[in-house]
Amino acid sequence: MLQPLAIPSLLRLPERKLCITVREHLPDLPLLTPVQGEIEIQHQGTCLQVSARVNMIVTLTCRRCLCKYNDRLPLEVSEVIWLDAIKSDPRAWSLEQEVSFADLMEYLPPDGWLDVGQWLYEHISLALPSHPLCRPDCRLDWEPEEVPPVDPRWAGLTQFKPWG
Ligand SMILES: [Zn+2]
Repeated sequence: MLQPLAIPSLLRLPERKLCITVREHLPDLPLLTPVQGEIEIQHQGTCLQVSARVNMIVTLTCRRCLCKYNDRLPLEVSEVIWLDAIKSDPRAWSLEQEVSFADLMEYLPPDGWLDVGQWLYEHISLALPSHPLCRPDCRLDWEPEEVPPVDPRWAGLTQFKPWG
């Protein structure tokens, strides 16, 4: 079970760094196997650098044929989480490190907690394919090749199509 981490506790560790071996069944994710890998959390004074390298097998539903299939989902992610003191002075950002704004998604109080399980859950959710296909060329058997599929919302309009 991934426990929330008290941020100040990192300061007492060698290199202010914690490595967590992950073997988790996170709820609310279509996991066939546990999430396995490592999470590394380092306190860098003004921010936390949180990195994960994990693997899992997910069960997805093909968007075209609706069959369920399993796929390997490797995830490598690294995120900077700023500690709140910096938030009050944005000019202090990015001078020392090159950090894109996309990375600046979160702030936490320096004496607060990092919910490691929630953090991992969010990044896996983002990594799940939004248009899963059981195979790249999946198509429905009855779908004629030369006619592009008609979106059901527009099906009623096709009888009016001027180019027909
Ligand atoms: Zn399919």
